[in-house]
Amino acid sequence: MSRVYNFSAGPAVLPEEVLREAAAEMLDYKGSGMSVMEMSHRSKDFQDILDAAEQDLRDLMKIPDNYRVLFVQGGGHIQFAMVPMNLFQNRVGDYILTGQWAKKAYQEAKLFGTANVIASSEDKTFSYIPDCSDLPVDEDADYVYICLNNTIYGTVFHELPNTKGKPLVADISSCFLSEPIDVSKFGVLWGGVQKNVGPAGLAIVIIREDLIREDVLPGTPTMLRYKTYSDSGSLHNTPPTYTIYMCGKVFQWIKRMGGLEAMKERNEKKAKILYDFLDESRLFKGTVEKKDRSLMNVPFVTGDADLDAKFVKEAKAAGFVNLKGHRTVGGMRASIYNAMPIEGVEKLVAFMREFEEKNS
Ligand SMILES: *Cc1c(COP(=O)(O)O)cnc(C)c1O
Repeated sequence: MSRVYNFSAGPAVLPEEVLREAAAEMLDYKGSGMSVMEMSHRSKDFQDILDAAEQDLRDLMKIPDNYRVLFVQGGGHIQFAMVPMNLFQNRVGDYILTGQWAKKAYQEAKLFGTANVIASSEDKTFSYIPDCSDLPVDEDADYVYICLNNTIYGTVFHELPNTKGKPLVADISSCFLSEPIDVSKFGVLWGGVQKNVGPAGLAIVIIREDLIREDVLPGTPTMLRYKTYSDSGSLHNTPPTYTIYMCGKVFQWIKRMGGLEAMKERNEKKAKILYDFLDESRLFKGTVEKKDRSLMNVPFVTGDADLDAKFVKEAKAAGFVNLKGHRTVGGMRASIYNAMPIEGVEKLVAFMREFEEKNS
């Protein structure tokens, strides 16, 4: 068996320890004589897995008691629709466009009412975070929406926007559990888990209780109402049981690693190794404004598309996989999520140095 260093943006690398545990429990979960995959979602064993996952997440993120944790199928794209369907009262949402995921959320909201762009960084291919200290927030806005960490472009909000009293909704898919976060500053936080938390197929929604409404947009299907998940403990129908089990294992791994403060320290260390190299390199360049750099997704280019392709190909042969940039951006992108070990980044930088010497 040989494991590669996987820099995929998602689905992405998971902690090896977690994969080994899951493998050991595959045929017989804690004496049940079956895999978690084969278990009833109404069984005590699964209820324990679900309860522990929620509690561990609450502990890690210090989620206040007036927030609910919902396990929702359908990944990120379903949340683009669920947010307006559940939060629209005046049918107005204000969006800050910092990349493709924010833009998709904005476009989806337009299906249900008015979506305003109150700030954007599209003028410079989303290579920075706009100043959000005094935005033209609509008086009727039901919420202000951001994508906290921009997976494709590699930027992150270091400061939250001034929403002028409106609830802040944030997509945290690609920075979920990468560092501490003050949940109380948000109305809704949601993340698809396949970037930093677990296997694909699930979004976790952390929502302030008063935003879980009965009077959602007329026609909102039962399975697209936050209330359905809140009332049933995310068990209205069969949830993605195995994915939830894996997420729970990752939460426990993060706890063993020392929690979110320790994750942050480790992630900063990894990102610094890569950014320091990019800043001194004669061949490779980072593509975003330094002040807005993400800890999780690091896009870079050589400036020559053929050389980029050569790099991606040679890196792959050397065991550094999924470094090709997003199809809309080109170049390269290294996603260095929680589960990427420090030596993965160190070895990547050593490989980049070598490539630079040979090609410049
Ligand atoms: C990947 C990603 C999405 C899309 O997730 P899907 O589960 O594929 O719908 C949305 N937002 C962000 C920030 C992402 O990184």
